[in-house]
Amino acid sequence: MALEKLVRPHILEIQPYQPGKPVEELERELGIEGAIKIASNENPHGPSPLAVAAMREALEDMHRYPDGAAFALREKLASRYGVDGEQLVFGCGADEVLELLAKSFLAPGDEVVYARPSFAMYPVVVKGMGASSVQIPLDEDLCHDLEAMAKAVTDRTKMVILCNPNNPTGTSFGARAFESFLDALSDDLILVVDEVYWDFARSDDFPDTLACLARRPGTISVRSFSKLYGLAGLRIGYGICDPELADILNRARHPFNVSRLAEVAALAALDDTEHVERTLRRNREGAERITAAFEALGMRVWPTDTNFLLVRTARPGPEVYDALLREGVIVRPLPGSGLENCVRVTIGTPDENERLIAAMTKRIGAGS
Ligand SMILES: *Cc1c(COP(=O)(O)O)cnc(C)c1O
Repeated sequence: MALEKLVRPHILEIQPYQPGKPVEELERELGIEGAIKIASNENPHGPSPLAVAAMREALEDMHRYPDGAAFALREKLASRYGVDGEQLVFGCGADEVLELLAKSFLAPGDEVVYARPSFAMYPVVVKGMGASSVQIPLDEDLCHDLEAMAKAVTDRTKMVILCNPNNPTGTSFGARAFESFLDALSDDLILVVDEVYWDFARSDDFPDTLACLARRPGTISVRSFSKLYGLAGLRIGYGICDPELADILNRARHPFNVSRLAEVAALAALDDTEHVERTLRRNREGAERITAAFEALGMRVWPTDTNFLLVRTARPGPEVYDALLREGVIVRPLPGSGLENCVRVTIGTPDENERLIAAMTKRIGAGS
C-alpha cells in the first residue's frame, strides 16, 4: 500500500527524536557490566520515596479510570502557586502539553519562533502540525537572544517558545531581559515558557513567569514531574496559564491523558521535601565537583541553572561521546546543534560523577 500518498506530507519530514543509548544496549555491545547513563537529565537519586509508597498503595485501584480532572493534584498545585485550579492543564509529560499547544494553535503557514539550539522536541511538534520553525541562534554567552527573537516575530508568527533554563545549554535569562521582551511582544500570539528546569534555577533574577499570566493572557508556563521529582517514567507534566487558554487546551486533550498512578505519585512527590532538598543539594555539589575537575583539565563548563552541564573540550562532541562510551559512560552528544566540541552531561550521583571525571581524564585528558 502506498502510504506516502495518504500520509500528511509534513509527517514524513519529521526527524525522529533520538533518545539516548540504553545502558543495557551498551553493556551488550561492550560485553561489560555497570555502565552508567548520564544523558537524559533524569533524577539520578531515583523517584521520590513518598511517591513510590503512594503508588504501591494505589495499585489495587488500577481497574478504575483516573480522575480526569485531577482534582486533588490540581488543588494542591493551585494553592502552592497561588493560582486558580482552572489555570492548570495536565499532560502525559510536559511533552504532551507542548503537543496540545501545537494541536490547538498551529496550522500550515504558521510560524513558531524559538532558540537554536534548544529542546529537540520543538521542531517535532511544530512540524507535526505542518507549521514552520524560525530558529534564532543563542547569543555569545549561549543565552536566549530575546531581542533578536522579538524582532523575528512577523504577522505569521502564532507562537514563541522560550526554554528557560535552556536545554541543552543550562543557561537562563533574567527578569529584566524578560520584561523588555514582553514589552516588545505582540499580544496576538501564544507565548510558551518551557520551565521544566525552573526548580533547579538559582540565578538571583530568574523571572517569575506566573506573575505575568494576568498581564499577558496567552502566556503559559510548562512544568514537569520528570526532572526534580524523578518521575520521568510515569509521564506527567502541566501548564499554568490564564483560564481561557487552559479551557482551550483542556478541550484538546483526551479525558484520561494522565494515568491514575501518575496523579497519585505526583501528589505525594509534592510533599516529599526531603527528596527534593536532597536532590537539589546533591545536584549543586555535583555541578561544583564536575565543573572544578573539568576546568582543571582545561575544558569549558557553562554555569548551569539545571541538573546538567554543557562541556566543551578540544575534540568534537561525537568523538568525546564515543570515547566515554568505551569507559561505559553514556553522555549526550549534540550533533547538528552548532555547539562545536560540546557534550551535555547530566549531573549524577557522587559515584557516577567520579566515573565521569575518571573517564574524561583518561580518554580526553588535560590540555583540552
Ligand atoms: C525533559 C524536557 C521536557 C519534557 O518533559 P516531560 O515532562 O518528561 O515530557 C520538556 N522540555 C524540556 C526543555 C526538557 O528538557
